[in-house]
Amino acid sequence: MILRGIAASDGIGIGKAVCVREQNLDYSAVKYGGKEVEKDRLQSAISQFNEKTAAMAEHIRTQVGQKESEILTGQIMMLGDPFMQSQMGDAIEAGQCAEAAVDQICTMYADMFAGVDDELMRQRATDVQDIRSRMLAILLGVDSVDVSRLPAGSVLVARDLTPSMTVGLDKEHVAAILTEVGGRTSHSAILARALELPAVLSVPRVMEQLKDGDGVIVDGSEGIALINPDQRTLAEYLNKQEAFRQQKALLAVYRDRETVDAEGNRYALYANIGSAAEAEAAAASGAEGIGLFRTEFLFMDRTSVPTETEQYEAYLAVSRMMAGKEVIIRTLDVGGDKAVDYLGMAREDNPFLGHRAIRYCLDNPNLYKVQLRALLRAGAEEKNIKIMLPLVTSLEEIRGARALLETCKAELEAEGLPYHKEIPLGIMVETPAAALIADLLARECDFFSIGTNDLTQYTMAVDRGNAQVENLYTTFHPAVLRSIRNVITAAKEAGIPVGMCGEAAADPKLIPLLMTWGLDEFSVSASAVLSTRAQISRWHSGQAAQVTQEAMGLSTAAGVEGYLKSAVQC
Ligand code: PEP
Ligand code: MG
Repeated sequence: MILRGIAASDGIGIGKAVCVREQNLDYSAVKYGGKEVEKDRLQSAISQFNEKTAAMAEHIRTQVGQKESEILTGQIMMLGDPFMQSQMGDAIEAGQCAEAAVDQICTMYADMFAGVDDELMRQRATDVQDIRSRMLAILLGVDSVDVSRLPAGSVLVARDLTPSMTVGLDKEHVAAILTEVGGRTSHSAILARALELPAVLSVPRVMEQLKDGDGVIVDGSEGIALINPDQRTLAEYLNKQEAFRQQKALLAVYRDRETVDAEGNRYALYANIGSAAEAEAAAASGAEGIGLFRTEFLFMDRTSVPTETEQYEAYLAVSRMMAGKEVIIRTLDVGGDKAVDYLGMAREDNPFLGHRAIRYCLDNPNLYKVQLRALLRAGAEEKNIKIMLPLVTSLEEIRGARALLETCKAELEAEGLPYHKEIPLGIMVETPAAALIADLLARECDFFSIGTNDLTQYTMAVDRGNAQVENLYTTFHPAVLRSIRNVITAAKEAGIPVGMCGEAAADPKLIPLLMTWGLDEFSVSASAVLSTRAQISRWHSGQAAQVTQEAMGLSTAAGVEGYLKSAVQC
């Protein structure tokens, strides 16, 4: 059987399916088995909970750190509270099944903690909610797959791979990823590429068609998955996998080279990262800096906001790793397809057009200041950190962020803590509004980075994760290309540097256009650094300008893309 979807991350992955099914925690069909039976079920679920949670805590302690693991050991203590357990026992005595007892008592505590105006108490509410759902999953026998501990050679099959799930993924044991939703620039796709895992997304009804243990070949370059293939097909794909590896190995000669075109003109080639740990892979990949650190991933896969110290340590680690090189750190870009449960953000009908990114941060100055302080402090040592604001649409947002930054500086000054007084402040240009007033914005910020993932989404009015309109999502549309050209021109006229950190920066077909317009910096996923350097090295400025002129003379996306395919050797 062959399944087709969106080719989201290159490479061939071969392994066995592990299906991550959504949990149904509805217990309305559970019958009360009597006091003794329900109490035994409750006790056995508590023991299982403790055992699993202790194992998870130990795993996190070794992989992440002591503090993070204490969140989980704290949950064991909470559930171990004799008063809470006796309340659950009372509910069972009163005729409730174990599930209802857990549900009622946990919800009561969660509501109580949530109502207290204290950050620590609110975190407890999140913990109790977590205990509730994990206990219900154990009682109902719908315990979910722990993606941080998968058997080797797993092909992860899920309806959606949420960013928080991907953050905890055990990369070594995952051969490939298959999902039912998500586009090429959805965050699951971006993370799959960062982890260098082959991925095919938006495969219709993949969850129905696969079961655990099925043999799967995922071809992330072609966007297909072959289920339970015969020996011949398997042999064919093992060869393809080897060819892919060899092709990657050939690029290794570019690792220690400068990024120059065929005439020796230099470009900056940076990497996009989502965690401090990824900076290491970026440095190893030959990146000359970090062009985008998506800090929202620091806020995911945990139950509370990272403290100033935690954030400071993460930013400082990247800054030190990249000493002497630029590190552009984007402030919290939550919302859209990046949910952070404990922030309690309201559900929205149109989350990509909603209360997200800079909008959310400026409306929550206390949360935002923690991040700005951490960035200012982390910048003091190497002085290589630049702050970047996401989803800017107006000058007021830059001014608002700058005012908060000044407040933070004054606070740090008064506290006698070292910080980077001259830290540069730039913006992502990723909305049509920002692109159209790029000349005005350029006067009040220190640099631009073009976010083509969102700029394409908003210019084309196409949800970047929606497979049904995937064919309309294209950076080759003349509207998007003109927009990019205008932004680069505005930056040049204002004399500020301009980069691109959207996925388009790594598309070989666009490289001659970006070079011609004068893009200063390309920021791509670590896995695309060497291929981008190789592509740039092929171009003479005259040839690139000619290709650009031809492409910009065409009036449809298909025309532009078709022409560039023929003109650019990929
Ligand atoms: C973009 O929008 O192009 C971008 C780089 O940011 P993100 O993909 O995180 O939205
Ligand atoms: Mg964006």
